[in-house]
Amino acid sequence: MFEDLLSLLFPESCYACDGAMARGEKYICTGCNIKLPYTDYHLHGATELNPLQRRFWGKVQVRYAFSYLLFMPKGRVQRILHKLKYKGAKELGEHLGKRYGSLLSDHHYHEQFDLVVPVPLHKYKLRRRGYNQSDCFSKGLSESMQLPFKADALMRTLDTGTQTRKNRLDRWYNVEQVFQVKHPDSVQGKRILLADDVMTTGATLEACAAALLAAGATEVSVVTIAAA
Ligand SMILES: [Zn+2]
Repeated sequence: MFEDLLSLLFPESCYACDGAMARGEKYICTGCNIKLPYTDYHLHGATELNPLQRRFWGKVQVRYAFSYLLFMPKGRVQRILHKLKYKGAKELGEHLGKRYGSLLSDHHYHEQFDLVVPVPLHKYKLRRRGYNQSDCFSKGLSESMQLPFKADALMRTLDTGTQTRKNRLDRWYNVEQVFQVKHPDSVQGKRILLADDVMTTGATLEACAAALLAAGATEVSVVTIAAA
């Protein structure tokens, strides 16, 4: 009763539109759930490459590439990512991981992976922010896909926060060198599902995938909440 009273006085707001949510709604309101720009990449056939897979072509071998949503600036998706990354909305990341993970499992994709690995933050950034948004998403994926999850499989060895002023080529080389596999035995012989919150150029995921493959992972697939 107390909780009912609380929600009446202080209704929770939707992470995607900031509007008040109705009773029974959680994290994202029904209206936003309908209107979110889903990629539906899981519906593409196994032989047909989706636009994300094509992005890795000729760079690094990526088995599957999935993104739950399409990134659109100044809209619902940007608000979701902003809250997950800067406003402490850890449970939102987990919620999205659970939802996308069960959707992928419905299409039997959970059978394609052995381990979920998040893209790590540099330890200084992790200390400053207090959590890694990709861990939250990975946790939800691992739960709904019934796969183990190893948060510290990869390590970011350089802070890439100052690279915005560099040109694209420098940035690519820079990002390539910043990921290391901490415990190679934890990824050897495994089909890894590499998870991140957002994909822009794909350079970060590419660098992580290359590091995992070099350490002995059998194959790497990638999954993000949103992709530009
Ligand atoms: Zn909403």
